[in-house]
Amino acid sequence: MSYKHWLVAFGMWVGLAVVAWAAPPHKALIVDGQNAHPWKETTPVLKKVLEETGLFTVDVATSPAKGQDMSGFQPKFADYQLVVSNYQGDDWPEATQKALIEYVKGGGGLLVYHFACAAFPKWKEYNEMIGLGGWGGRSEKDGPYVRWRDGKIVTDNSPGKGGGHGPSQPFQLVIREPNHPITKGLPEKFMHVSDELYGWLRGPGQNLTVLATAFAPKDLGGAGEHEPLLFTVSYGKGRVVQNALGHTAKELKSVAFIATFQRCAEWAATGNVTQKVPADFPTADKASIRE
Ligand code: ZN
Repeated sequence: MSYKHWLVAFGMWVGLAVVAWAAPPHKALIVDGQNAHPWKETTPVLKKVLEETGLFTVDVATSPAKGQDMSGFQPKFADYQLVVSNYQGDDWPEATQKALIEYVKGGGGLLVYHFACAAFPKWKEYNEMIGLGGWGGRSEKDGPYVRWRDGKIVTDNSPGKGGGHGPSQPFQLVIREPNHPITKGLPEKFMHVSDELYGWLRGPGQNLTVLATAFAPKDLGGAGEHEPLLFTVSYGKGRVVQNALGHTAKELKSVAFIATFQRCAEWAATGNVTQKVPADFPTADKASIRE
């Protein structure tokens, strides 16, 4: 082999090695297409936030618009380690519902983002998978509220609406389960930017672990309760996690959202979190923003 040929071969080997080394190990799918929220604005941000971990390549499956024929909407969930739902709208075809159930039961990861907790109020398995939901006519018939009271998580079967929030307000998240991979190493308390503070979520709440809550004061439209905003559900062999933050792209600039979303994503995909806590992570009294 001439020197020149050797150089070319070596160059190709280096190139392949770099590609193999740099290729993100996991595949993620964001599902959107309908949502009473601005999904066209938030999905590209969610995609970027996932890609920035270096852990994911990200595809997007966009459903037909509201009222259109959904029969052809059949994303291949099984091809992914992570499915992120940014979807709230018409029912999916039965085959698609079944595929999601099987995907999660079989060990898949599902990350439910913000208003996706309002999707599919009548789909039993979806509500079991997401643990707690809101809106869509949800009430005491769907399961209890879950709150942090007197130093522990309690369920509350009192009648009332499922889902609600006061006007957008800055709030502090408090970690209630510091030994979970998603929360391990994070400060116990950290501020989020002004955002909707979801409350009154209710549902089957089985196999649920509340990772973090925020207090929703009555004088700011809340229930006067510590509301669960970050929580996981184990469903079959699968890992489901909800991150209730992030009303629009503006709120997605909050590092409280970015870092928790990235950690939720990795945990849902793998059961583990390898990410370091970023240097710009918020403190107990100061939110942090990434432009
Ligand atoms: Zn919202």
